[in-house]
Amino acid sequence: MAIHFAQNGYDRCSLQRQRQLLLKKSVENGSALFLFIFDGKVGIRKTHEGFEAAFIETSTVLTAYRNKLTGSFLGEVGGMPVFGIRCDEHPDGILSSDCGDLFFMELKQVTPYLSKMHASIIGYAVAMIHWHRNHQFCGVCGNPTESSESGHVLQCTNRDCDKKTFPRTDPAVIALVHNGESCLLGRQRGWPDRLYSTIAGFVEPGESPEQAVYREVYEETGTLVRNVQYFASQPWPFPASLMLGFTACWDTGLISMKDNELQDARWYSRDELAEWIPNGKIQMPNRISIAWKLIEHWFNESSTVKFHEVCGE
Ligand SMILES: [Zn+2]
Repeated sequence: MAIHFAQNGYDRCSLQRQRQLLLKKSVENGSALFLFIFDGKVGIRKTHEGFEAAFIETSTVLTAYRNKLTGSFLGEVGGMPVFGIRCDEHPDGILSSDCGDLFFMELKQVTPYLSKMHASIIGYAVAMIHWHRNHQFCGVCGNPTESSESGHVLQCTNRDCDKKTFPRTDPAVIALVHNGESCLLGRQRGWPDRLYSTIAGFVEPGESPEQAVYREVYEETGTLVRNVQYFASQPWPFPASLMLGFTACWDTGLISMKDNELQDARWYSRDELAEWIPNGKIQMPNRISIAWKLIEHWFNESSTVKFHEVCGE
């Protein structure tokens, strides 16, 4: 199943991360690529079909800056090492030649127009940069950390402590609860009008994803489920989640928003979705999300019209 941010197509080259000098040399001699993230937005270029990740050749970056940029080695694309780089200022000032077609957009906004491989590697860069920004200091002793293993380890600079921190991903469950012809969708306060989605929440320490599904569905909707089945997963770099998708059968319980996290939760039949999505009475989650895939999968199990047609594609 093709899921955004979960597409292969580039080599992470994880075993090369310790060869820092070799990688540094590739940056110095201009034979590497940079993916720039500036002001939380991702560097992209326009193409005939849509957009693509802007892989900036390091030879176009002024020599004095090449090794001063902060980032992580992401792997290889087309045999060239790629680094995700956080820019504190717009990179125009450090590029020697005209990179005028480089511009910056929010990842979520541009993802539908990117190839799945480009969305995956940019999502990876965004997640790594988020982790770096949030672990500048040691969580044990409070001293600054420094980057090692090509940006994949942040190590405490206090040698008596030496604590190493590794990139973090927060597991979350997301579940399509169904009851024959209907599925259970909810909306949070502050979401766009009429937007409803599947039930989601973070996995807690000491808890399996399946247990988290039971707990979250009960807390948020007051219903109990059975037959929790794994569906698929999706890295979700907004900022650092790993979404674990499940389906579950409703067992018992009337809808009641126990923990007040949701503003509303309702059962929607296939017929209602087929009628109300096209006329705007209900809005579905972002098409790039696993939530959309979960609803699509359930909807198409028993419908002559396909979900993507209902959603207008
Ligand atoms: Zn420390």
